[in-house]
Amino acid sequence: MNGGGSNPDARPGKHLSVEQARERTIAAVAPVTGHQTVPLAGALGRILHADVTAPADIPAFAASAMDGYALRSADLPGTDDAPRGFPVIGASFAGAPFDGRVGAGECVRIMTGAPMPDGADAVVIQEDVERSGDQALIGGGHQPGQHVRAPGEDVTAGSRVLPAGRRLRPADLGMLAGVGRGEVAVRRRVRVSYFSTGDELVEPGGRLRRGDIFERNRYTIGAMLERLGVEGRDLGIIPDDRDAIRETMLAAAEADAVITSGGVSVGEADYVRELLEEVGEVDFWRVSVKPGKPLAVGTVRGARFYGLPGNPVSSMVTFYLFVRPALERMAGVEPVAPAAWRVRCTQPLRKQPGRTDFQRGVLERDADGESRVRPMPEQGSSILSSMSGANCFIVLPARSGDVEAGTMVEVIPFDETL
Ligand code: AMP
Ligand code: MG
Repeated sequence: MNGGGSNPDARPGKHLSVEQARERTIAAVAPVTGHQTVPLAGALGRILHADVTAPADIPAFAASAMDGYALRSADLPGTDDAPRGFPVIGASFAGAPFDGRVGAGECVRIMTGAPMPDGADAVVIQEDVERSGDQALIGGGHQPGQHVRAPGEDVTAGSRVLPAGRRLRPADLGMLAGVGRGEVAVRRRVRVSYFSTGDELVEPGGRLRRGDIFERNRYTIGAMLERLGVEGRDLGIIPDDRDAIRETMLAAAEADAVITSGGVSVGEADYVRELLEEVGEVDFWRVSVKPGKPLAVGTVRGARFYGLPGNPVSSMVTFYLFVRPALERMAGVEPVAPAAWRVRCTQPLRKQPGRTDFQRGVLERDADGESRVRPMPEQGSSILSSMSGANCFIVLPARSGDVEAGTMVEVIPFDETL
């Protein structure tokens, strides 16, 4: 638990700030090499291996943006002119263009997405047209060139559609489809092995003896990895036994990265940091963050190692802050710090100066439509309902003390990873 009282770990100089720790975990990793070609329909969330450029304009041809009648702008009646009859000489449908030419005073029935017939350069929407037999009656008030999609107005031939390193989102798949890519080259997935430590942990569905608890962290960590598109390898629950943990750490190190939870504090059964010193290298472990200490970040046999705290909120927060950006970089994405907003906090917050605090809250609108944040009532690092019930972090800077109700505070909305 992150209790109150004096905090010996908050001594200046010994701890990295959140920003320093973040920069360090990012700087320590490089993008994985290797890529594969996957069908476009299976590429969501994958990381684009190379820039994609457009071989042709989108749209490739001038097309109607509306259902109506295509004609020559020069023939449009003036504002004060009486409506004029235009003979309808044919029809242009999406996928079935009109092959002829629109001459002076003529028009062609046209549908949204259909190619503009030769000669025509404007469309009058059907609501503004009165049909009488094969004549279309069109009045004044129209603009030259109206309701026509210009070739290349979405994408111009030769331009970059998407950059290498892009994590593909739904709209991106549409962009790739639009330039005719049925397959796409993506980076290979980052591979992460993970396990929990603790004699008290029992797999959900099992039987609890006195003092046991159900395992939670492998489920939160596994799910966050899945959301990041990582290939996770679940190594299960390892008891608080030095040899068993050492053996599992070494076996796990064949992956690109290893994540553990628990056993990193200074309790009697906490071996992870000691073992990291023994079989690998410790990069850092003291960070001025709450919740979140202690942790053990380093390397084991070429694999990055992230020993996260056992408390469920702490392991999620430290994953979000220090593991996720490193995994993004390994995956081939340049990590960007999440955008933050300043909103009014509805309740007072307790906070001791010293560490950056990531409290959990609900970002919502009040009756006037103003955004505000309502902190979760319990902020302990073992209170996982404070994550589950929240939708944002309330970030209180290290120097900050208690916060009064009504103060403007910084919030970071949870994204799909949380
Ligand atoms: P530790 O870091 O091992 O000292 O654990 C700190 C607290 O987190 C203890 O209350 C543990 O029981 C709890 N804890 C550790 N690992 C897990 C886990 N995988 N799932 C749920 N709680 C855990
Ligand atoms: Mg433990």
